[in-house]
Amino acid sequence: MKIVDFLLIHPWIYDFSSHDFWLRPYGLLSLAGKLRHHGYSLYYLDLLDPFHPHLPKPPKRKEFGTGHFYKETVPKPYFFLDVPRKFFRYGLPFPNFKREISQVQFKAVMVTCTLTYWYPGLFNLIDFFCRNYPGIPIYIGGIYSKLCLDHLLQYVRKYTQSPIKVVLEDIDSFIEHLKRHYSPSGVPHPYQYPAFDLQWAIPYVILQTSLGCPFNCPYCASKYLNKFFQQKNPLEVANEILYWHQNFKVIDFAFYDDALLVNFEQHLGPILEIILSRNLKLRFHTPNALHARYLNKEVALLLKKAGFVTLRLGFERLDNRLDKKLTTEEFIEAVENLKKAGFTGREIGAYVLFGLPDEDFEAVKRSLYFLADLKVSPYLAEFSPIPGTPLYEVAKETSRYPLDSDPLFHNKSVYPAFKKPPWPQIQEIKDLVRAIRKSISKV
Ligand code: SF4
Repeated sequence: MKIVDFLLIHPWIYDFSSHDFWLRPYGLLSLAGKLRHHGYSLYYLDLLDPFHPHLPKPPKRKEFGTGHFYKETVPKPYFFLDVPRKFFRYGLPFPNFKREISQVQFKAVMVTCTLTYWYPGLFNLIDFFCRNYPGIPIYIGGIYSKLCLDHLLQYVRKYTQSPIKVVLEDIDSFIEHLKRHYSPSGVPHPYQYPAFDLQWAIPYVILQTSLGCPFNCPYCASKYLNKFFQQKNPLEVANEILYWHQNFKVIDFAFYDDALLVNFEQHLGPILEIILSRNLKLRFHTPNALHARYLNKEVALLLKKAGFVTLRLGFERLDNRLDKKLTTEEFIEAVENLKKAGFTGREIGAYVLFGLPDEDFEAVKRSLYFLADLKVSPYLAEFSPIPGTPLYEVAKETSRYPLDSDPLFHNKSVYPAFKKPPWPQIQEIKDLVRAIRKSISKV
């Protein structure tokens, strides 16, 4: 039996699709890193960990640390029967989870949930712990609890056997709260970086060098989640990168920033200069969109020199952009700068927003052909209505679902903003995206 202060769990995901494209519970790992720095002993269980030894079959891995998650087919929610796709539970099978938990003794459980429509995995855990560990406090954090607080509170109200607290404050304030109730039983860890080493393997490390975003796009919750835009000290970020590389031989790093290139000369520039001065062979990835307008010649060259190999640019679409943060000319210039710096069309990807209320399919196609001409790989950013954003209110008018009644209806794969999704046309767009990407990867 392993006796610890806290059990930290990343729940299963129930969805039509989910891939390990640098997908880790960054908030939970950050909490773990700080808790053990304060001397708390932990048991960390990421139910999605693709390297977990008790998975029935190891999921396939791809380049740069990405890959698949282990999944099992589960029944589709009845209101999604029109969606021509299978539904899955991603992560460790339930009996294996139960066996593992039975070998741990803990004072409290901490769980998270990121996307609003992934709450069923969290609810399963709440149900399990309330029934099997009555009296053990449960702390719930993550984006879902912030965006859909009423939905969560309504669910947990029925569980009276365990104290349940929703964590809405920042990590440092939460730890101050914990210190008043729990004495640490472990030895303080010298560092407080997100605890990636508590996973079964570290295929990559996620970096978040800033909080928030100076922009305010009508479909995004960034401003709601972080009122202000704040950047970390560049030296601290560089040291974090060096720590993972030197101690754990990590090569791949993915940035989770919302606005990585803002203030480049004082922020990302110095971070990369420090890395370059060490002559390290690292690879960097930006699964979150970069702002193309900041990609001038010097920035593009430095990104190339430092080892960026996966770039995703926020493109949105060719005409009638919602975000107003980019012109087509600026986008073309950014791509030219990247190409001149040596990036290939496969390395440069652009997100095309798809599935908006009253979607114009022809406009989406025009955007895709435009990217094909520029030799930039298109990726669909399927629209998910996020509560609290202006576009959520618009989607409520056009959706076939009562969006306010259940966050499951926010699932991007069901095209929630459509009254009647034209599945063959949707498939046509997806096929076109794949065909363009394939042709570009051959160049
Ligand atoms: S630029 Fe990106 S992160 Fe910032 S508000 Fe717009 S979509 Fe959100």
